[in-house]
Amino acid sequence: MSGSEADSVRAGGWVNAHTHLYSALVPLGMPAPSPSPRGLSEVLRAIWWRLDRALDPDCLRAAARLYVAESLLSGTTALVDHHESPEFIEGSLDLLADACEDLGMRALLCYGATERNGGRTEARRGLEECRRFHASNRRTLVRGAVGLHASFTVSDETIREAGALARELGTVVHVHVAEGVEDVDHARERGHADPLARLLACEGLPEGSILAHAVHLDESSLRRAAERGLWIVQNPRSNRANEVGYPRALWAGGRVALGTDGFPSDPLEEGEALLRESALHGEGGPAVAERLQAGTALLAGLPAPLPAARVERGRLLQGEREVVRDGGLAACDLDQVRAEASEQAHRLWRRMEAIA
Ligand SMILES: [Zn+2]
Repeated sequence: MSGSEADSVRAGGWVNAHTHLYSALVPLGMPAPSPSPRGLSEVLRAIWWRLDRALDPDCLRAAARLYVAESLLSGTTALVDHHESPEFIEGSLDLLADACEDLGMRALLCYGATERNGGRTEARRGLEECRRFHASNRRTLVRGAVGLHASFTVSDETIREAGALARELGTVVHVHVAEGVEDVDHARERGHADPLARLLACEGLPEGSILAHAVHLDESSLRRAAERGLWIVQNPRSNRANEVGYPRALWAGGRVALGTDGFPSDPLEEGEALLRESALHGEGGPAVAERLQAGTALLAGLPAPLPAARVERGRLLQGEREVVRDGGLAACDLDQVRAEASEQAHRLWRRMEAIA
């Protein structure tokens, strides 16, 4: 990334358009699964779907505060979060929202409804958490969306209910789409060209909805997404780590932002990864600065926009509120946040061990 591209991101701050606050404790020594998972399905089952089932309120609070604190200090001014904690659904979005509001982070939050652990009952509880949060949230810096985990873990009925709920609430849907080939195969087995076609057929994607990954969508699908006013979020470090492939057709979609998918929210690291990966896969030099800045337009287009952010030397302001001052957090002590995270991380690894 050139110096001027890096400077422009620093000046405007960065909107991380897809991430998972719940994964913030992972770098604090999460034991590697044995045997090593191969392919996205095994990675999900061996790591992420065990981690999310092990989350309780104390672990989640510590993870969210650590992620938000470090994100602010890296120049991130907003997080578009996708949350799942199947053993702690009701009230989970309030806990995340409090971490954001207390430390001074703008955020769009959703619970990602899924049927993978508890069928339709689980999906309804996830959607109800989105509804409850949206209706009761009065925070200055936080808004609510409706979440679906991914097409391949939900039924047509759940997709329809998510779309209807988002329209009723006047918000958008946030969902993983075609991250791995499994999602595409699942949609094809049900008679659709790909998961985007399935989500659209079930009216699950109001304008402005956010599709994470789109690694295995083709050019015609990406043009269709653009025509429907949908956002695509590319996650170069995550796609590389999970070996799911490179989203070669993204140039065909008009609205592409960048996210970190649970990796630390550092725009320079993610921008460098985009440059590296796009060169390796012959995308031909994507507009890195354009994708880094697209999250700002995504956020501004929400039905209930958030206050504007400003980044200056050693300062970060959300509206008139100064949340980073002299290069440090205004609202809390970073060492304390890290100590709490480290303590909860050890609890979380023990809880994960107990899950088959
Ligand atoms: Zn994700």
